[in-house]
Amino acid sequence: MARRISIFGSTGSIGQNTVDLIQRDPDAYDVVALTGGANIALLAEQARVLRADIAITAYDDRLEDLRAALAGSGVEVASGAQALCDAADRPADWVMSAIVGAAGLYPGFAALRHGGSLALANKESLVTAGPLLLAEARAHGARILPVDSEHSAVFQALVGEDMDAVERIVITASGGPFRDWPLEAIAKATLAEAVAHPNWDMGQRISIDSASMFNKALELIETREFFGLDPARIEAVVHPGSIVHALVGFKDGALMAHLGAPDMRHAIGYALHWPERRDLPVARLDLAAIGSLSFERPDEARFPALRLAREVMATGGRAGAVFNAAKEAALDAFIAGQIGFLDMAAVVEATLEGMDRDGSLSIPPQSLDCVANVDHLARDMAQRAAADRAARR
Ligand code: NAD
Ligand code: MG
Repeated sequence: MARRISIFGSTGSIGQNTVDLIQRDPDAYDVVALTGGANIALLAEQARVLRADIAITAYDDRLEDLRAALAGSGVEVASGAQALCDAADRPADWVMSAIVGAAGLYPGFAALRHGGSLALANKESLVTAGPLLLAEARAHGARILPVDSEHSAVFQALVGEDMDAVERIVITASGGPFRDWPLEAIAKATLAEAVAHPNWDMGQRISIDSASMFNKALELIETREFFGLDPARIEAVVHPGSIVHALVGFKDGALMAHLGAPDMRHAIGYALHWPERRDLPVARLDLAAIGSLSFERPDEARFPALRLAREVMATGGRAGAVFNAAKEAALDAFIAGQIGFLDMAAVVEATLEGMDRDGSLSIPPQSLDCVANVDHLARDMAQRAAADRAARR
């Protein structure tokens, strides 16, 4: 029987890679919902090719375009945040959560209620609401399969292992385009320079987050939430080649590494076929041609995001939601040309401090609505901090 699947954020970088894999074996899948944003032509094309039941744009003012693009196709159309959650209510066996940002939280949550598999690319869900998400999965017998390349790598290295035997987890970071730039140059980095990732082809937002290491910061927190390891046992190491994605260290001293070409179809495909391994259209590594692998300790002066991630993990509670929301607002301000590259970390740090003035940062959020509320307040505060810095430029 065909597996019912939905892809949230199908028009993005992860979404398109997921569609690519599904399209290679169309009879194996029965596509329920596809969702996107402003790229209506791509969403409509995907929906036609995959014969989706419904296509949803996040934006109400694009609904008529989507309706026109899918006229006569038999594909239902809808728009808006509520429609995204309603689509997640439609039963599916496997759901890809690949919306970027906190906007991916609610649909992913809703999808867990069917008790199927949630392939989680949206790391923001774990950073902002990890304990709630894991509890929801447990309550419904659903499974969360990591799609972030590092976390998929750790997940794979842990097959057949006992978590009690794990001493540490090491995730790798490419170091991004500014790894060896002087700090003064990084401060003046432009949007185009920040988006140009040396190894991975990703969406605009995560590419900039890679350059600032906010992506790695989110991933440290994601590791902590998903694998439940003490933060002191989680490390990030700079590995410019992006060949080793992560390593798991065991108490006998062994380090199990996961190596592969930088192609997200590996992690997506692993989650798609789990617990089996199937053929995937990814390049095979020629180790002799690669020659050597190099590693460096990350420089926290250059990448304050890593230091902030440590503080967030130590605080727990609402700190992840504040961190992520402030980071998203700071990123918006950088993309809009309001603030400089290094101002992003300053804005996030000021927001973490501001939101902890009443000492509430370490209180765990009790519900998704609480997370949304914290997100909203932190975003507001970060926008004010960004405007302050913009005025001083
Ligand atoms: P992207 O920007 O390429 O695509 C994002 C998708 O989300 C698009 O379909 C877009 O239409 C949709 N979207 C954007 N804003 C939305 C909103 N407010 N409401 C609903 N839908 C919205 O992003 P991406 O690079 O594919 O990343 C997606 C997620 O996967 C992110 O959480 C990212 O951190 C994670 N991730 C990406 C990669 C990668 O290689 N691209 C690797 C690991 C993890
Ligand atoms: Mg990653």
